[in-house]
Amino acid sequence: QGKRGTADIVVYTGERTAHPTQWLVVQAELRHALERDELVLCYQPKVRLADGTICGVEALVRWQHPERGLLPPSEFLPAAEQSGLIEPLTAWVLRRALADQAAWTAAGRDWTVSVNVSARNVEAADFTGVVESLLAEFGTAPDRLILEITETAMVDDKVTALTAIRRLADGGVGFSVDDFGTGYTSLDRLRGVPLVELKIDRTFVATVLDEPENQAIVHAVIALSRGLGCRVTAEGVESAEIADWLAAAGCDEAQGYYYSRPMPWAQISVPMPEEAIR
Ligand code: C2E
Ligand code: CA
Ligand code: CA
Ligand code: CA
Repeated sequence: QGKRGTADIVVYTGERTAHPTQWLVVQAELRHALERDELVLCYQPKVRLADGTICGVEALVRWQHPERGLLPPSEFLPAAEQSGLIEPLTAWVLRRALADQAAWTAAGRDWTVSVNVSARNVEAADFTGVVESLLAEFGTAPDRLILEITETAMVDDKVTALTAIRRLADGGVGFSVDDFGTGYTSLDRLRGVPLVELKIDRTFVATVLDEPENQAIVHAVIALSRGLGCRVTAEGVESAEIADWLAAAGCDEAQGYYYSRPMPWAQISVPMPEEAIR
């Protein structure tokens, strides 16, 4: 268990990167980064469209690289996924996020924390154990944690993943489908997976005012979430006009630069008037 997390050998597909040498460097450095605590989390608020209040935050990882500065996840997550380092990385993110969430809870904020997990994480044999022991360690109510998975984590033949999802969901942990609509999925995959949320990908949201096709897609996802009995969140909301359109369409929650960019813990912890940001 966990030994895959330190694998040194990588198989190149030839498409993942144009610079295999650089890829190896990133992996070696990332291993040190985890040891030296160079990763940091930013948090982006999730806003209830009905009243503009914050209902939760999503944790987004960055790497404070000693030479290259603050790196976005796109610079190192693919290397982490490929090497198995994604397992210790996700464990680090969960620990940091639950620790921060415990501090917010102590300060009287009833915010959920959403953590992105990769398909590889939920397939790992010890995933439920890792999550359950962290919840116990920080005394977190399981329904304050939402795990965002992509459609690829819910494939029927991934028995381990579905078993892990069901077990954690039975214990109260929320599951959300991230980037909904962009995966090569069939709706069939949503059956039997207990979900608290569908997140509409920002590619549909960004141009929703101008493109009738995207309006149709967003309406359909909202209707689907109603049928499934879960919430629906729009990501990538960049203007008041889009937020208003989504609210009128019946969308529950929104995230995006219009409300706030992802922020470090210290900034998002500053009390906000009435906890409302619009
Ligand atoms: P995501 O989960 O879809 O997260 C949303 C991304 O969109 C974030 O990029 C966020 O900064 C960005 N974003 C938020 N609002 C807006 C907006 O209004 N407009 C635009 N253009 N962008 C917006 P970021 O932080 O670079 O993360 C990229 C992806 O990396 C995430 O996409 C997620 O898939 C992955 N990721 C981030 N943190 C983690 C993590 O801790 N674990 C895992 N496994 N994946 C992570
Ligand atoms: Ca996400
Ligand atoms: Ca997303
Ligand atoms: Ca995305």
